[in-house]
Amino acid sequence: MITKIIKIDDNNIDMKGIETAGEIIKNGGLVAFPTETVYGLGGDALNPDSSRKIYAAKGRPSDNPLIVHIADKKDMEAVAACVTDKARILADRFWPGPLTVILPRSDRVPYETTGGLDTVAIRMPVHKTAAEFIRAAGGFVAAPSANLSGKPSPTSAKYVIQDMNGRIDAIIDGGDSGIGLESTIVDLSGDVPVLLRPGYITIEELKRAIGEVETDRTILDGDCKDRPKAPGMKYRHYAPKGDLTIIEGDSEDVVNLIIRLSNMAKGKKKTGIIATDETYARYDADSVKSIGSRNDEEMIAHRLYTILREFDDENVELIYSESFDSSGIGQAIMNRLLKAAGHKIIRTDNYPSQG
Ligand code: AMP
Ligand code: MG
Repeated sequence: MITKIIKIDDNNIDMKGIETAGEIIKNGGLVAFPTETVYGLGGDALNPDSSRKIYAAKGRPSDNPLIVHIADKKDMEAVAACVTDKARILADRFWPGPLTVILPRSDRVPYETTGGLDTVAIRMPVHKTAAEFIRAAGGFVAAPSANLSGKPSPTSAKYVIQDMNGRIDAIIDGGDSGIGLESTIVDLSGDVPVLLRPGYITIEELKRAIGEVETDRTILDGDCKDRPKAPGMKYRHYAPKGDLTIIEGDSEDVVNLIIRLSNMAKGKKKTGIIATDETYARYDADSVKSIGSRNDEEMIAHRLYTILREFDDENVELIYSESFDSSGIGQAIMNRLLKAAGHKIIRTDNYPSQG
């Protein structure tokens, strides 16, 4: 299959390109598209064959549900069997934007889209090109992130092309994703709302809007044996090819341990370091990258997946990362970093000192 690349400038949207992309979806094809979080891999959410094709293109297990993207708040009623008051409050407060809500599924949404579940995930992106594309596609676009299963989500068209060229009908190239991490997911299908995936919209913001919100245990505890409520979360995610370990502790101890560990690997394994603006100059390894300043969490979120992909491009074999504060957006950053590392952490105070 030849994958068509459709360039669209979000500030001056070419509606002919959008129409072409919309027609592909209406005819049962797949189109990757930019959003404010990461690139999505879209198909018609109401067409079971389209959803099957999405799983095939990603190499994704078919029990890992897709998010239904809409461009109009009222379309929530069409895909959910019932819309709760809390869902309305969250939609009014955070849509369009990087929040996904889980509600009971309406019969219009096939099980292929929901991974066999009786609930459906719904999001309305704020990205202008995404919204026009969703409208042109008929209003309901099922989309997971546009990466091959297990790899970091793509935050630019370059990485979508790397993973999906030849596997899907078209890619809308709309430049870089602003936020760089997937949407916050909150499950509203039970009695108490549950945060299933942290994101740019923080749990504190959700609580201010709707009161009590629980956090799924599997977000907090990497060793947790419970089955995660968001099925996709049981799979290894966001993983770079290199072996990633997170170093945790007081900042000076972290820098010193990363220097020691990377020195030990010198001449043996190609080594990368995820540093910050504050520490970047202290390291000497094959590939040292600053993810941004510790004072700028939004930049850290924005850069994380790009850095992991760059290490892949450079065939880095071993990666050490500093750790980050896990409040606010930091909860989402650490959640993705921990998954990328397969929860491999070294605490500086547990590590034998030199001798
Ligand atoms: P992705 O955007 O690629 O991370 O994929 C969408 C993710 O949304 C899935 O991996 C699930 O974690 C989550 N999700 C989608 N639908 C549901 C649902 N009905 N219930 C719980 N989680 C869901
Ligand atoms: Mg994904």
